[in-house]
Amino acid sequence: MKGLVLNGANNFFTVQTEDGLQLRCSLKGKKLKDLQGFYNPLAPGDTVEIEQDELNPEQGQITALVPRKNGFVRRNQKSNEPQLLAANVDAVICVTCPERPPFRPRFVDRVLIQADAEKIPPVIVLNKCDLKIAETVQDRIDDWRRLGYTVFTVSAKTGEGLDELSAFLDEKTCVLTGQSGVGKSSLLNTLNPELNLKTARVSYKYDRGIHTTTQGVFLSFTRKDSHGNERHIQLIDTPGVRNFSLWDIKPEQLIYFFPEMEKAAVQCTFGLSCSHTGEKGCAIQKVLEAGAIHPDRYESWRLIKAELEMLTAEDYS
Ligand code: GDP
Ligand code: ZN
Repeated sequence: MKGLVLNGANNFFTVQTEDGLQLRCSLKGKKLKDLQGFYNPLAPGDTVEIEQDELNPEQGQITALVPRKNGFVRRNQKSNEPQLLAANVDAVICVTCPERPPFRPRFVDRVLIQADAEKIPPVIVLNKCDLKIAETVQDRIDDWRRLGYTVFTVSAKTGEGLDELSAFLDEKTCVLTGQSGVGKSSLLNTLNPELNLKTARVSYKYDRGIHTTTQGVFLSFTRKDSHGNERHIQLIDTPGVRNFSLWDIKPEQLIYFFPEMEKAAVQCTFGLSCSHTGEKGCAIQKVLEAGAIHPDRYESWRLIKAELEMLTAEDYS
């Protein structure tokens, strides 16, 4: 029978059957060979074939993976392997905040790039909008919107913007990512007070810590918004991270993931040999001077490219 992977690590996973049963399942070796090369073989959101234990019906074995629609990965910096954060998602939700911890546009840009590389639509959630939003922050938010990205401005503390966010989340499966401290757990608890009732914020984190520290957890709940609309939400929460490192993106391709630079990059007469960092007559420089590229987005591109070049150099050393 088929089941949905809710969470798990190494060789044990919690799998929910179509009847709503949750089984603790181990991987049954050989058939899952094609999952090698990943830091983790399965992620929340995966659909698997399972065999229920006859003697112990709360347990089972995972015999095969149903092919994924998509997978959201990041580079695991320790092992330099792709780490699958979530599978089969409709959108990537990148949570950020204006301060406390400081606004990190680079983190968001990286998530936008990785989501685009997997052809998963990304969405930005600016949490803590009850705090002061500095002009530099607002400026970047406006720029993302100008580029066509959806940005929700919300507050887990006051509840502002959560009806709009849940309307977006309705009937979708989305993965939540964000640097530690931006308020992912708080957002989840405000969206789903039951989570709060059953497990206080701290113990929810604690619980997650026991299950797995490197993988996320699949959450499914209904939220009634302030107009009485019921929203069916499925979210894969991933552990907060300090960095989001890109996987499988070549330095020279990076520019094509920046919609405001893509066209000029193709048009640049110096082609692939152009570093786009000051060559006279470079098409990117012209667009930059015309003000059509936010200087900080250009900075993102420059910094991320340098980082990818360093990683590529390591691969060949
Ligand atoms: P996580 O690491 O992303 O899960 O972040 P937490 O949910 O643990 O929140 C980190 C801190 O930010 C906590 O002290 C929260 O009380 C605070 N916080 C979360 N959401 C908001 C918000 O909307 N407004 C304000 N002012 N603080 C918030
Ligand atoms: Zn150029």
